[in-house]
Amino acid sequence: MICMAGQHCKARDESGNPAEDMFPLCFWCLEAAERDVRALVLDYRDLEQHIPRGSSARGDGMPHARQVDAALPIDEDAFDLQREIWWVVTAWEDVVREAAALPMVGDWAKRRRDGLAVVEAVRVLAPRLEVLCRVTEAEMWGYPGTAGATVVPGWQGVLDLAALHRRARGVLGLGRDDGELIVGVACPACGIRSKLRRSVDGVSCGGCKTRLETADYAGWVLEDAAQQGGEAA
Ligand SMILES: [Zn+2]
Ligand SMILES: [Zn+2]
Repeated sequence: MICMAGQHCKARDESGNPAEDMFPLCFWCLEAAERDVRALVLDYRDLEQHIPRGSSARGDGMPHARQVDAALPIDEDAFDLQREIWWVVTAWEDVVREAAALPMVGDWAKRRRDGLAVVEAVRVLAPRLEVLCRVTEAEMWGYPGTAGATVVPGWQGVLDLAALHRRARGVLGLGRDDGELIVGVACPACGIRSKLRRSVDGVSCGGCKTRLETADYAGWVLEDAAQQGGEAA
């Protein structure tokens, strides 16, 4: 099969033709997509820093100390993109669960805090993109960029998931060599906030040089947020 990534195929030949492989997406495109999909957990979390928290939730009408620094640009796109990441990963999670005969997510779980739903969806999706790309059609309602009911092939889902990561990189301003500064999150080793930098291969502290794997960082931010929530209450 000719790789459906077409001119964006990661393994085009000298004349620019996409690779041929056993699945609708070639090995190289699937491998690249897996990295992108795994990164969505961090994207989702880091987009949070670009979203101003509603002061009404605090009840005092004053900006809270944990709010985004006023000097940081607040990107309205960040909120939409965060919602879209949540929507798309959980929608395809359902499709993959069905295709791979995994237990379906109950309604109670769908009401989980969105960040946790994204972590779980990525955990299911990332190692199963091969399964997803072989799903010939999935019925979707309100799929981003469409109105109402539509039928989307699994390989399109893989490409859309990877594209979300590219958009997030744009919104987050990633791509610089020193990585993007993660505002507001404490280093698990030295405890100092806003010293962590995120790059393509993980997270490191600019103060004590501690390095964190992506999965460890994802776990840590949830812990850190829970601790902060406790302090604020
Ligand atoms: Zn390809
Ligand atoms: Zn540190």
